Amino acid sequence: MSTSDGKFGRYGGQYVPEALMPAIEELEDAYERYVLNNEDGFMDEFRQRLRDFGGRPTPTQYAERLSERYDRDVYMKREDLLHGGAHKLNNALGQVLLAKYMGKERIIAETGAGQHGTATAMACAHLDFDCEVYMGERDINRQRPNVFRMKINGAEVNPVTVGRGTLKEAISETMRDWATNVEDTHYVIGSVVGPHPFPAMVRDFQSVISEEAREQMREQAGTLPDSVLACAGGGSNTMGAFAEFVDDDGVDLYAVEAGGSSLSVDEEKGVAPNSASLSTGGEGVLHGARTKLLQDYDGQIMESHSVSSGLDYAGVGPELAYLVDENRATPVNVDDDAALEAFHRLSRMEGVIPALETAHAFAYLENNHEDLGDTVLVNVSGRGDKDLESVIEETEKRGIENAPDMSMFSGGLR
Ligand SMILES: *Cc1c(COP(=O)(O)O)cnc(C)c1O
Repeated sequence: MSTSDGKFGRYGGQYVPEALMPAIEELEDAYERYVLNNEDGFMDEFRQRLRDFGGRPTPTQYAERLSERYDRDVYMKREDLLHGGAHKLNNALGQVLLAKYMGKERIIAETGAGQHGTATAMACAHLDFDCEVYMGERDINRQRPNVFRMKINGAEVNPVTVGRGTLKEAISETMRDWATNVEDTHYVIGSVVGPHPFPAMVRDFQSVISEEAREQMREQAGTLPDSVLACAGGGSNTMGAFAEFVDDDGVDLYAVEAGGSSLSVDEEKGVAPNSASLSTGGEGVLHGARTKLLQDYDGQIMESHSVSSGLDYAGVGPELAYLVDENRATPVNVDDDAALEAFHRLSRMEGVIPALETAHAFAYLENNHEDLGDTVLVNVSGRGDKDLESVIEETEKRGIENAPDMSMFSGGLR
């Protein structure tokens, strides 16, 4: 799928300032040697650490009540059971280990909701690296538990105050740091975004999800799924869940984006009340890659929105944009309310509290199960513990159906 120039059809590439090229070239070389060619047994060590430290393989579980509700077989790939509570560790561990093989001494990362920063901080503690995480000031205030987790694992958290103080600015700051400290520093990017080789490399680290799931479906269901559903922010759990099924013609792939509060945009204010870049975005360059993104007529990146901060990003991985153009993957979206309803439904019906990001995939299943075939696989990208406060707040505010009564906390949980 990936070619050596890092292009996926029209998308991808290396749109970076000159100062970053040495770092990119060094990383490209390391990616080819250690990841693609397993030099020095890199991939073997990666797999073993994923097992011993990460807890892989994660189960593929038959969802009994959902299967009954939708009158078809529903399976859940339980990435919420990976160490750290989300798929993020697959990539963070892979990249920090790669940095070790490259002889780097310092790790930097960006984080939005704090999930990737947390996974990176854990991987750095595990492999004995110094770790600095750039995080928008606004996100620091919204995601305090993850800030605590990073600090407790020994990472430094650098507040980013420019712009809106969110993920987009944090990525730009981290790239700046990388350009000035190329010699001893590796930048662990958090999704299948950024300049080549990041999109291909992050996909390779995450594809353990579909490698396992494909085998588990064969064994447990005796068949491959008719459709695979995964939520898409930057697209790393999506690409991880899709990768090994891409060549299976009978398996339909659905990337479920955040429809936010509306699919329409306010061009004048530069605001999109959604994060549906695959469904509604145009072509442009963001963070080193050509891809689909939310932009205004002047090419300025718009503010995005989602009730789930992990999906709140104006771009998407170039390979996913390519799979959509090739009609191999279908972009769909659900709105904030549907995601909140699905969050409560899955928690009550299956005893699995999903991340709000993940809940988007289950919301799509709820509304479209009749079109998804006899056997459906949903990637549970993460667990929802991190979201409890905001879910309770949002649920009350919006009067979400079927939500538990939380009035005993009225006046707020804080
Ligand atoms: C970060 C995150 C996402 C979104 O990121 P992708 O790169 O699109 O996978 C989805 N689910 C969870 C649980 C996350 O932490």
